[in-house]
Amino acid sequence: MNYYNELIEYMKTIRPVSTHSHFLTDEIFGGGYCLKTVLQQSYNQDLWCGVKLDDTLESRKNYFNLLKNRNCFKWLEKALQQIYHLDVPLREDTYELFDQAVRSLYRNGPKKHLELLNKYTGYSRIILDAYWNPGDDNGHPDIFAKAFRIDSFFAGIDTQMKDHDGNNCRNLYHEVFDDFDSFFESMYRIIKQQVQGGASALKCAISYERGLNVEQVKESEARTRFQKLPQNRSAADIKVFQDYVFQEACQIAAQLDIPMQIHTGLGRLHRSNAILLQPVIEANPDTKFVLFHGSYPWMDDILGLVEKYPNNVFPDLVWLPLISCEASVRFLSELIEVTNSHSICWGDDTWTPEESFGALLAVRHVLATVLSEKIQTGYLSKRDALEIVSNILCDNAARIYKL
Ligand SMILES: [Zn+2]
Repeated sequence: MNYYNELIEYMKTIRPVSTHSHFLTDEIFGGGYCLKTVLQQSYNQDLWCGVKLDDTLESRKNYFNLLKNRNCFKWLEKALQQIYHLDVPLREDTYELFDQAVRSLYRNGPKKHLELLNKYTGYSRIILDAYWNPGDDNGHPDIFAKAFRIDSFFAGIDTQMKDHDGNNCRNLYHEVFDDFDSFFESMYRIIKQQVQGGASALKCAISYERGLNVEQVKESEARTRFQKLPQNRSAADIKVFQDYVFQEACQIAAQLDIPMQIHTGLGRLHRSNAILLQPVIEANPDTKFVLFHGSYPWMDDILGLVEKYPNNVFPDLVWLPLISCEASVRFLSELIEVTNSHSICWGDDTWTPEESFGALLAVRHVLATVLSEKIQTGYLSKRDALEIVSNILCDNAARIYKL
C-alpha cells in the first residue's frame, strides 16, 4: 500500500472537528428534501456558480455541462455516489435516480440528516456559524458548538444599516445603542453573555461588505463620527466607526480568551486579502486571529502572516479544499514548512450532510497528497505525518476552541 492510501485509511479512523459549518436547521430536512435541495444548498447554487437549475431536462443538461468539471461539484458528486450507493456520474440522465435515492432516504425518519452526518463524517464536534440566528446551536448542543457572529455591530452606527445577512445589533438585542459609551458597553455585555453561554468562537465576515483594511482609530475619532446626524455621515465616517468596532472586538476576544474567526479571500473579493489585517494583528498580540479560507486566491498573504505572528495567527483550511484541491495542496505544503504544528485547522463550511461529507473527502485527499509526498522525499517521517493529520483534523481545534 502506498503512503497516500495508508493516510486515507488512517483518516477514516479519526473523528474530526469541523471548525466552521452552516449546517441547516432540522425543518429543512423534512418531507421536501430532495436532490435539488442538496444542490441548491451547496456551492453549486446560482449565487456561487452563476448557473440556475430548474426542473426541465434542458436546464439540468445545461447545469451539469457547465458545472461538471468544477472542484466543488466533483466532491459533492463523490459524496452522493457513496452515500446513495450509485456508481454513475450525476448528470441530467441520472438525475431522477439520485433524486429518488435522496427522497426515499429522508422519508425514513426525521433525524436522517444527523444520522447521515454522523455515519459518514464521524465529527466529534462542529462549530456552527448560524448566521440566520447568531450564536445558535440548532437545538443540538451535543454536536454543535457555537460561533457568535459579530457582524451586526458593524451596522450599529445607523438604525437603517444592515449587515449582509440583514441584521443590525439594534434589532437583534434588547440593549442600549443610542450613545457611544452605552453602545460599546452593550457590545461587550452581549459578547460576554455569548461566551458564558458556551460560544467557542467569535466570527467576523465583514469582508463580504467592506475591505479588511482596518486602521487604528482613536476613541475620540470614532465618537465624533458616531455622534454625527445620520444625514451628515459619509462613507468615511462609517469606516472609522467600523474600524473602531473591529479593534474593540479584538480586545474583547483577547480579554475573554476566545478565538476570532475571520473570513478572508473569496466573496466580495475587493480588499479581502488577509495581509490587510497586519496592522490590527500587530496591535493585538493577545488576540487569536483565525484566518479562514487561505485568503484564496492570496494564499501567500497567510503564509507571510503565520511566519511573522506564530503565536496569534491560526490558518484554517476551511472551505479551501472545496474551492480548489490544487490550491490547497500548494498552500498546505508550504504552510507545514513555515508554521508551527499547533496552528492549522480545518472546517467543512457547508449546509448539508451530503456536501459536508464531500468537503471531508476533499480535505482527506489534500492531506494525503501533501503528506505522502513529504514522506517520500524524506521531509517527514510517517509518524510525524500521522501526527500532522490528527493535529489538523481534530487536536488543534479541540485545543484552540477548548472543545
Ligand atoms: Zn462559512
